[in-house]
Amino acid sequence: DMGSPFLEFKTSIPENGLVLAWLTRDNTKPIRPQKGSALHTRFGSFQHNSMISSKYGTQLASSSSTQAGFIHLLHPTPELWSMSLPHRTQIVYTPDASYIVQRLRIRPGSRVIEAGTGSASFTHALARTVGKNGRIWTFEFHEPRYGIAKKEIEEHGLDSVVKCSHGDVCKDGFISACDENLDASAVFLDLPSPWLAIPHLKTVISKKKIVRICCFSPCMEQVQRTIEALQKEGWLDIEMVEVSCKRWEARKEMIRKPEDAIERLRDIKRRRNEGLRKRNERILSHEQNEETAGLKRKAEVSEAVEDGAATPAEKLIFDKPFLPSEYNPWGRGKRVHEGEDGYEWKDVSKVEAELKSHTSYLTFAYLPPLVPNKEEMLLPSR
Ligand code: SAM
Repeated sequence: DMGSPFLEFKTSIPENGLVLAWLTRDNTKPIRPQKGSALHTRFGSFQHNSMISSKYGTQLASSSSTQAGFIHLLHPTPELWSMSLPHRTQIVYTPDASYIVQRLRIRPGSRVIEAGTGSASFTHALARTVGKNGRIWTFEFHEPRYGIAKKEIEEHGLDSVVKCSHGDVCKDGFISACDENLDASAVFLDLPSPWLAIPHLKTVISKKKIVRICCFSPCMEQVQRTIEALQKEGWLDIEMVEVSCKRWEARKEMIRKPEDAIERLRDIKRRRNEGLRKRNERILSHEQNEETAGLKRKAEVSEAVEDGAATPAEKLIFDKPFLPSEYNPWGRGKRVHEGEDGYEWKDVSKVEAELKSHTSYLTFAYLPPLVPNKEEMLLPSR
């Protein structure tokens, strides 16, 4: 018995122990290192022998002579497991999972009912939170999916915490686990028709404690039917929430002057009129004799100004001859680093487009204890 890597932390990687090999931001592979085996990736091959007894967190270099890639050998956590698990269904991702666990007040020792098990992504988050003194009853009516989840829970050393049951909770309720007193204080329903499962809860939830529920549904019509069922069954403080997980990028943007924009347009015009070659020559001669070139351009401009061919803005720009060593807004010349002194900057932020959270509506409610319990009655409503 190796215990559960999701419940306790080990410093070094045991032979055949679960390792999450981090390849890229969106590619993490679960492996169990065995002597003589190797992990083959597009970043090279990685020998299991060099993983066994290494510390979790180690950066491992590829053993291939042609590919100099590396991977990180990470300790399992429910968060990393959600990113690497073999998908059998849609799953609950960490942004939702963490919110739900907190709103349901799940903590070490909690007793929780979950349906359906699906790919057991959320089950892992629940198991880690309730720990060895807690209990999860998870239900799945799809037989092969139930079988895979049960095996996975056993392989992860979580079977003393998580009880997998095979059954249809909408039709038969939660009786498939009723050889024990569940006395659950939290319920999570992630299935297409939670309203059919809700009336079956009475017999399995705690009568002495406040019970909290969360139903996870992608459509508003499902939310409406769920709310009706919750109201009918006496659940209180019904509230619907949607977790929208976005990454914000904060950076500085250079403040550009109208003159910069005018100059850009003038430059395009100049390139067309004079040709790129001629322009490069001028820059070269400018570098060789800055003063002469500067004076020459100045003379050209004052001539143009006198002729009435140049605008005052143009004059302003030509008064300040373009030097290749200066910053210039169309890219040639000196490179300016973000936030560099000598320029004006404003702080801006941008939303990252990618969202890795299956957007669903979360419907929360609670049921007060049937049997008055002094301690519980002191708790605020949620
Ligand atoms: N929360 C899971 C996770 O994070 O991996 C995903 C659950 S998945 C979206 C929904 C699961 O509910 C499916 O596996 C489906 O077979 C199961 N299911 C649907 N109706 C059910 C019912 N009446 N009783 C039990 N399981 C049911």
